[in-house]
Amino acid sequence: MKGFTGREWMVLMLEAVLVLLLIFGYKSISAEKIAAWSEEADSSVNEWTKKMKGGKEQEQQEEELQEKKIAITFDDGPHPVYTEKLLDGLKERDVKATFFVLGEKVKDYPDIIERMQEEGHIIGNHTYTHIQLRSSNREKFREELILTNQAISEITGQEVQYVRPPYGTWDKKLEEELNMFPVLWNVDPNDWCTGNADKVTKAIVDKAKENSTILLHDCYQSSVDAALASIDILKERGFEFVTVEEILFE
Ligand SMILES: [Zn+2]
Repeated sequence: MKGFTGREWMVLMLEAVLVLLLIFGYKSISAEKIAAWSEEADSSVNEWTKKMKGGKEQEQQEEELQEKKIAITFDDGPHPVYTEKLLDGLKERDVKATFFVLGEKVKDYPDIIERMQEEGHIIGNHTYTHIQLRSSNREKFREELILTNQAISEITGQEVQYVRPPYGTWDKKLEEELNMFPVLWNVDPNDWCTGNADKVTKAIVDKAKENSTILLHDCYQSSVDAALASIDILKERGFEFVTVEEILFE
């Protein structure tokens, strides 16, 4: 192996120095750069966090301002006395409700159905005679729905889209057969088995949540009183009363 000459050593040394300079120079540059980057990143993270926090606060404020939707529904009517009283109270409060009416009562009180429609409420089907669907009476149940739809449409001139099956018993196949949509409930104060309006009001107010559907019956004075009292309390608490349509599809 051939030894290096003095000149070759010199070149080698210079090369080594150059390499070292490059390495250290690069290192110090990159250290500076990294520091600068991380500072930038820190400040942008801070800004972003601030924005997020601000956004959240704003969102919360908007949420508080935005009203929570809730639907109030009445079954088994129309009743010649109590439904009229209820409609008066709803009108005073500018509240739209949903009524699931019985075909046989629609025939008796067509004026009340007309008033419901004029005042912006939704009218749904609750069968003709309050029949409960069973495997043995499907055809009769179906017929009752059709008869009730006809009775309502004759008055309103509109197709009936919603059905509340008595006792909540339903057959999904009927939806397509009749082009109707079932509407159940999730707040049931059992108003039909007590004459105590305060009790009913408390049950409603305690259970009411955003997007709840309240079940009542417009054939008792206590139910009408409880409905109107609950509306006043829940409105105070930021609830907006809408028809079931808005709860189901919005
Ligand atoms: Zn009923």
